[in-house]
Amino acid sequence: MKDDYVYRERHVEPDLQRAFRLGEGKISGYCSLFLGALSLLAVYAYLYPAYLTTLELRQAYDAELLQQVLKYGMYFSLLFGVLTFYFNRYKRLGAAGIGLTLLGFALGGYSIPIGNVEPQRLSLGADWLILAFLGSTLVFMTLEKLFPKYPGQVILRSEWGVDLVYFCFNHLMISAILIYANYHASHFDWAISPAVQETVRSAPVWLQVALIILCADFVLYCEHRLFHEVRSLWPIHAVHHSVEDLDWLAGSRGHFIQVFSERALVMIPLYLLGADETALNIYVTFAALQAILIHCNLRIPFGPIKFVLVTPQFHHWHHSSEAPAIDTNYGAHTVIFDRLFGTYHMPLNYWPAEYGTTVRLPRGYVAQILYPFKKLLQRK
Ligand SMILES: [Zn+2]
Ligand SMILES: [Zn+2]
Repeated sequence: MKDDYVYRERHVEPDLQRAFRLGEGKISGYCSLFLGALSLLAVYAYLYPAYLTTLELRQAYDAELLQQVLKYGMYFSLLFGVLTFYFNRYKRLGAAGIGLTLLGFALGGYSIPIGNVEPQRLSLGADWLILAFLGSTLVFMTLEKLFPKYPGQVILRSEWGVDLVYFCFNHLMISAILIYANYHASHFDWAISPAVQETVRSAPVWLQVALIILCADFVLYCEHRLFHEVRSLWPIHAVHHSVEDLDWLAGSRGHFIQVFSERALVMIPLYLLGADETALNIYVTFAALQAILIHCNLRIPFGPIKFVLVTPQFHHWHHSSEAPAIDTNYGAHTVIFDRLFGTYHMPLNYWPAEYGTTVRLPRGYVAQILYPFKKLLQRK
């Protein structure tokens, strides 16, 4: 049956209204607004580090260096804001950017002394949000502009705003998840084997990383498959699948229950393996980058890598609403478990023509968050 399927090409018409063009003031307006908003958030993070920074992340970056980044972010926000007045277009965006930055300056700007971070029971990962947003836009938006799969697809595609809300909420939640998971990891102490941990630690770092990737991938494969195949769980995960145009931001769409359970579950193998911190840090970086990359609007072919690791084409098929692709390609890091368990779908010469769910979900953030609860009530 699958062999008879007729694959189609996807056509994305260029959306001139939403496209960015140089010299119009639109790029300046959005840059000013986003830099202004991120700067203000960063100023708050420096003012209230205990509540707005992630302890684990804080140990990995240089807070003084980031103050310099903040300084340039604030000045560039002002500069871009002024440019919109020069172009005499998108002045509202520019004015908003300037306003947010000036508020940041009024609160102390980039010269707020760096305070110590006392661990809190609950804190928000504003620093993670800022770094992830700046890093992702720089790296992945550049890649998407250089090697787009669908050149007609614009950055401000329909529903980009919804996905930005998901991006912000899910990134802010990271420290809550980490605190929760670290706290509960000790429930699994009974499963720790000192002999296993010693063997893992005596292996070279690259092997430890490979082992972590495999174990995490197995857990994520099982969890992902359950979300698809257990009827009562599907409405939660359907939120991630409701996106109909994929790009770097689209992968952020995910119900908080799914994001929370996924992150918490993956901690278990990491905790039990007891690998070196270097290996763990490499894995966390790899996993974060790969999760964005596989949703990107990117035509890089990836050569033989695509037969081992999850690549955009593989995960794009996972998001397809076309019959042969439904409930396939569950892997998060590698394609190994899909191969082993018969859920692999990758017609090499084709990409999906349609993305999304077969039953369309509501389109707003709040409606989507409520969607699984509504479904649950309907079933009763
Ligand atoms: Zn899925
Ligand atoms: Zn996805």
